[in-house]
Amino acid sequence: MIETVGIIGAGQMGNGIAHVAALAGFNVLLVDANPDAAQKALGIIDGNMSRQVARGRIKEDEHRQAMNRIRLVDGLAALSDCHLVIEAATEKETVKVAIFQELCKTLNKDAYIATNTSSISVTRLASTTDRPERFIGMHFMNPVPLMELVEIIRGIATVEDTYKAVKVFADKLGKITTNAEDFPAFIVNRILVPMINEAVYTLYEGVGNVEAIDTAMKLGAHHPMGPLELADFIGLDVCLSVMQVLYDGLADSKYRPCPLLVKYVEAGWLGKKSGRGFYDYSGEKPVPTR
Ligand code: NAD
Repeated sequence: MIETVGIIGAGQMGNGIAHVAALAGFNVLLVDANPDAAQKALGIIDGNMSRQVARGRIKEDEHRQAMNRIRLVDGLAALSDCHLVIEAATEKETVKVAIFQELCKTLNKDAYIATNTSSISVTRLASTTDRPERFIGMHFMNPVPLMELVEIIRGIATVEDTYKAVKVFADKLGKITTNAEDFPAFIVNRILVPMINEAVYTLYEGVGNVEAIDTAMKLGAHHPMGPLELADFIGLDVCLSVMQVLYDGLADSKYRPCPLLVKYVEAGWLGKKSGRGFYDYSGEKPVPTR
């Protein structure tokens, strides 16, 4: 039975997964290569839970107990006794593969490993571990405490027991699951990120400015956020890497990343997390940059 969960990567997704797992009663061990990121994550989780208390969604003692269940640890060897380890590190295959190789040296043989990758082949990542049959994709949505869905992606070697165990875990988190086959970017990002890329092309070709594009999709298609605002929220580096995986994996020119998206990422304009993307976040209100 899954009781203790290790989470690798304490960025936007890792801290969200730690948040929901701790609230659901799991013991959480959180690790990040950057100790400042891990420390910052604890503050973010605490702040987000305080907001839930203020809105009456959770009680103060649930908040306190959940925070007590989260422990920051150093190094992947500290996760050796976990029943499930969820990898939510940077979306780069080399980074993830290095993590799995290190993790498998000490992780107990019965533990399951899940990756939160947005787009990389679960089968290929699984093959770099010592337990492809106990490896699976659990694709959480951002922000994790608010979004209902987890996409579950079985690699070709994933066995039924692994699927059932992570499904029960996701149910306990209060999430709804859908199953996606292991094709590049799965379901949500296969549809969502090319739409964002198309919005960037629309900007690049001068069909509309940032405000016009976001207003058009909010009021004309009833999207809660405009596609450029959403791109900034997801992170332009994450959007670009999903497009690259689609382009390489499906070999179809319709997935060509927009050159403007590439340029923004090269400039370090990664969206909300870096203070600038299609909007400038340095003032009180985000201001369109084009
Ligand atoms: P992020 O940049 O906010 O966080 C990544 C964290 O991983 C950083 O804190 C970094 O220090 C850490 N890290 C890097 N290398 C590491 C290592 N070797 N060991 C431990 N920690 C390491 O990124 P994010 O948005 O949280 O994305 C994490 C994963 O979740 C990616 O695979 C991404 O594709 C996926 N994802 C992202 C979103 C989204 O909307 N941002 C949604 C679903 C899934």
